Amino acid sequence: MLAFDTVVAARDAIRAKKVSAVELARQSLDRIAKVDPKVRAFNSVYPEVALQMAREVDEGKRSGPLAGVPIALKDNLCTTFGTTTCSSRMLANFHAPYTATIVQKLEAAGAVFVGKTNLDEFAMGSSTENSATHTTRNPWDMERVPGGSSGGSAAALAAGMCCASVGSDTGGSIRQPAALCGVAGLKPTYGRVSRYGLVAFASSLDQIGPFTWNMADMATMMEVISGHDRRDATSVNEPVPQYSTEVGKPLAGLRIGIAKEFQLAAGIDSAVSKAVSEAIDVYRKLGASVVDVSLPHTDYGIAAYYVIAPCEASSNLARYDGVHFGHRTSEKVSDIVELFSRSRAEGFGDEVKRRIMIGTYALSSGYYDAYYVRALKVRTLIKRDFDQAFEKCDVIACPTSPTPAFKVGEKSGDPLSMYLCDVFTVTCNIAGIAGLSIPCGFAGVTKPLPIGLQLLGPAFSETRLLQVAGMYQRATDWHQRRPNVA
Ligand code: GLN
Repeated sequence: MLAFDTVVAARDAIRAKKVSAVELARQSLDRIAKVDPKVRAFNSVYPEVALQMAREVDEGKRSGPLAGVPIALKDNLCTTFGTTTCSSRMLANFHAPYTATIVQKLEAAGAVFVGKTNLDEFAMGSSTENSATHTTRNPWDMERVPGGSSGGSAAALAAGMCCASVGSDTGGSIRQPAALCGVAGLKPTYGRVSRYGLVAFASSLDQIGPFTWNMADMATMMEVISGHDRRDATSVNEPVPQYSTEVGKPLAGLRIGIAKEFQLAAGIDSAVSKAVSEAIDVYRKLGASVVDVSLPHTDYGIAAYYVIAPCEASSNLARYDGVHFGHRTSEKVSDIVELFSRSRAEGFGDEVKRRIMIGTYALSSGYYDAYYVRALKVRTLIKRDFDQAFEKCDVIACPTSPTPAFKVGEKSGDPLSMYLCDVFTVTCNIAGIAGLSIPCGFAGVTKPLPIGLQLLGPAFSETRLLQVAGMYQRATDWHQRRPNVA
């Protein structure tokens, strides 16, 4: 294990010269060498990059709030070192010519990058089983999935291979794997973090965010990565709060909203309901009031998401044709159309093809109004539901995932059952608001399987979410449990 396995502990230990950045980087690389052959969280590991970055910290050439902290990046964030594969054959050999803004910001804050983590191909999925290369395993139970699509980032942190990691969340891909791996994951408000250099899946829903163990770490990461970027026109020009000084303050008069539509959602595991209601009891004991709210269009969330996201994906992924970008077939072709279609047939996996076909269909003439425009109308209704609910409460509490981690192979043959994993997470992206998952207990008979509590807040309520989650973490110790990965 890392001697200091949280962001603040690692940074402070380096500052106090209890450990050097190079020593910590070596510990992280050793841990990866030891456990990643089993967990398989990483697509690529960069010992030379990590040690060089650590040396710069030790030599005083780089400093900042993340100085010397080993961090893993989801493999859909562009870096000029190594590859950016999106876990797709299409980009197996892609060397990005530029660096994502978030990667630049982390680097400027002193971070040490150890490697890039596995995901469902192009971030489409909830288990990492759609990766073209391999499935990542859940560090709590190797027979189970880590969730997805940022399963590699969640598992890398949970298994102690880094002190924090970064993922992207289009419909739950940070929060759901965080829940299944027993760590915290935040999807910031749409526009809070620049998407420049994140390989696009569904541009109106995508947002980048951190995985950490605790809220001091989350605040530190958010303070570094948030803010306006002239290279992403959707990044909002709002000042970045000092999350790290605000995070420790409890919220007086906290009102927790419970949405009956979330409680009635089909397929919630009983251990999940129990853990979430116990978490709400913890808030009651801390003096919060619990209020009923209604999100009447929740039932349409999955349907709207699985039209909007594929429509945007079909358009974003058009660039991978073997000419502009991506894998090119080596077969003999007779014309450009055949070159495109063979390259795409070889480069994309089944789930990505399914999304492209659904999206192209829903956007085609004659169907556009019936599917895409309708889904956008539902989007407005869902957004309005949240606006109204947040008049009555400060945050909404619900499960992150209806079940704990499922077994590898359990849902991979049934796309619809996989899509239903996203019932509590997609509406947050549809509405563009902020959502956070924190560990709140365990299910499981033979092995403990983590459960996540999701806290949803209005746009730009990150400070509040961190404070509310911080109150819970000071009162409980779920976030201090670690899986036993030998
Ligand atoms: N599971 C969802 C999907 O497959 C969400 C993915 C994500 O957030 N990137 O689309």
